[in-house]
Amino acid sequence: MTKNRTVPTWVHFPLQSNTSRLIHVNATAKGGGVAELLSHLVESQASAGLSVGWGVISGSSEFFDLTKRIHHLLHGSGDAGLLQDDDLASLYRTTLRPQAEWFADHLAAGDVVVLHDPQTLGLAPGLSSRGMRVVWHCHIGSKPDETTPHSAVWQFFEPYLKYVDTVLTSRAEFAPTQVPESRRHVVLPAIAPESPKNRDLSDSEVDSRLSGIGLLGHEYAESEAAVEQDGPIPESAPMVLQVSRWDPLKGMAEVLRSLERLPPEAHLVLAGPEPREITDDPEGLAVLSQVRRVREAMPDALRVRAHLVTMSMADPERNALLVNALQRRADVVTQKSLQEGFGLTVTEAMLKERAVVASDVGGIRAQIRHGRTGLLVPAEDDAAFADAVAGLLRKPARRRELGLAAAAGARANFLMPRLVHDYRRLVHPTLN
Ligand code: UDP
Repeated sequence: MTKNRTVPTWVHFPLQSNTSRLIHVNATAKGGGVAELLSHLVESQASAGLSVGWGVISGSSEFFDLTKRIHHLLHGSGDAGLLQDDDLASLYRTTLRPQAEWFADHLAAGDVVVLHDPQTLGLAPGLSSRGMRVVWHCHIGSKPDETTPHSAVWQFFEPYLKYVDTVLTSRAEFAPTQVPESRRHVVLPAIAPESPKNRDLSDSEVDSRLSGIGLLGHEYAESEAAVEQDGPIPESAPMVLQVSRWDPLKGMAEVLRSLERLPPEAHLVLAGPEPREITDDPEGLAVLSQVRRVREAMPDALRVRAHLVTMSMADPERNALLVNALQRRADVVTQKSLQEGFGLTVTEAMLKERAVVASDVGGIRAQIRHGRTGLLVPAEDDAAFADAVAGLLRKPARRRELGLAAAAGARANFLMPRLVHDYRRLVHPTLN
C-alpha cells in the first residue's frame, strides 16, 4: 500500500484581493484534456481581471485506481458492484476530506470553487460547509441506458452532490439527474488558438520538430519523445495520426489494426504521453504494452508503416509544439474513442484544417458535423472506420474541403473566449 499523501498543491495561486475568487480544482497539472483546458482557461480568466486559482489534489495509487474505475463506469463499462465496497467509499471520503479542509483554510466564504471530474467531487461538503459555492464541472460521460451503471455512480456520489450548487457537463445526458434541472448546464470545452499546441507553425518548423524526434529521420540527442519504428516516414508518404492518452477507451490498438486496410503507402503514427509521468491514470503502461504487442506481431511490411511515439510531459511547451507539429503533418487525424466526453484532440486537429475521422459518440457529436466538418463512424465498426480513413487518403480535394470547414467550425464554436464567457454567465456572474 502506497502512502496516502493528502496535501493538494497550487498550480496557480489566486491573487489575494478584496473580491471573491474563482478556484479550479482537478486531479493533475499535466496530461489529459482537463489539465490542458485549465492551463488556458485559468490564464484567460486571470487576464480578464478575475482573481483565479488552480489547485491539484493528491492521492494514493489506490485512490486513483478507484477514480479511474469510476471514470469507466460513467462511460458505461465495468462492475458497478465495486461501489458497494465500504472500504472504497471510505478511501474516497478520507482522501478528500482533509484536502477540502486545506482548501477551505486557504480560501474564504463567498469564493467559488469549481471541482473538475469525479476525482474531486468529494471536496464538496467540506467547502460548502465553510461558505464556498461549489460547482462541479464533469468532463466525461456517456448516454445512460438500462445497461449502464450511471445510477450506481450517482448513488455513490449522493452525499457529495447535495452540496453542489451547479453542474456543468458537455452533454445534457451526462449530468446526474438528482441535481435539479435548473442547476445543470451544458458547457462545451474550448482550445487556445495562440498557444504552443495550436499556433501556426511553418512547414520547416514542423519538419524540424518531427525530425528532432527521429520520426522523419535524423534523431537528435535529448529528444522529448521516444519513437518506436522500423524506419522513418518517407517525405512523400501520407500520414494518419491519433494523439491520445494510453487509455482503453481511446481505441489506440484498434486504430493500429486498421493499418492493414489503408493504402499501402500510408503511414500511421500513434502518439501519447509517457505513461509513467501521468499520476492519475494507472492504466497507461498496460495499454501502451498492448499496443506495442500488436505492432510487434505485425508482418514486416506493415510494421514499417506503424510508428509509436511516447512523449515526455516534463516540458509542457515542447510537448505542445510536438503535438502541434504532428497534427499539422497529418493528412488524416483520427479519434477512434469508444466513449468521449469531449475530445480536445478533435478540435485541435480541426482548427489546423485537418480532415478528422472520429467515433460517433458523446461530445464528439457536438464537435463534428458528419460529412461537413469531418466524418463520424460508429464506435464499434472497425471496418467502417478503416474505409473512411482510406477513402479520405485517396481524395485530397475532399480532405481539403472537410479541413477548411472544420477550421471554420472550430473557430466559430470552440475557442477559449467562448468558454470564458460561458463561465462568466453560469459560474461566476457576480465576480467582477
Ligand atoms: N495530449 C498531449 N500529449 C499526449 C497526449 C495528449 O499533449 O501525449 C493532449 C492533447 O493534445 C489534448 C489533451 O492532451 O490537448 C487530451 O485531451 P482530450 O480531451 O482529447 O482527451 P482526455 O485525455 O482528456 O481524455
